[in-house]
Amino acid sequence: MAIERTLSIVKPDGVQNGHIGHVLSVFEGNGLTIRAAKLVRLTQAQAEGFYAEHKGRGFFGELVEFMTSGPVLLVCLEGENAIAKNRELMGATDPAQAAPGTLRKLYAESKGRNTVHGSDGEASAARELRYFFSEAFEMV
Ligand code: ADP
Ligand code: MG
Repeated sequence: MAIERTLSIVKPDGVQNGHIGHVLSVFEGNGLTIRAAKLVRLTQAQAEGFYAEHKGRGFFGELVEFMTSGPVLLVCLEGENAIAKNRELMGATDPAQAAPGTLRKLYAESKGRNTVHGSDGEASAARELRYFFSEAFEMV
């Protein structure tokens, strides 16, 4: 199994509702190590750039508005199969479809306000980590 790095984001609803601590403890309790973390308020341009693949979709405006509505916690996770493991711990995009015990099943209010983000593959993990973190100064 490969040691991977992936990006997690605790989205504005997760931060606002006080779930940072539990989300991080779920990661740590499942063999994932935190290699970088910062709490930031994304600008519109930063959120649009991050979600560029969804530009043109009906929910894009709502997504950018939500992601800029309050602070988010950006986290670099590392561990064996970290990309898939994080996706598994998050659960499906729509909380109605998310498996019991997953973060989205526990906390998400809707398909849009769904508490956490996770990179969906090796290429997106590399791109998303580069987008938010500087390897030289912010990753340990
Ligand atoms: P995931 O975050 O599970 O990888 P996607 O990459 O498909 O899901 O979508 C990115 C984000 O866009 C979702 O997490 C969610 O916040 C939002 N989103 C996706 N689909 C919808 C939708 N139909 N309505 C509202 N928001 C959506
Ligand atoms: Mg996605």
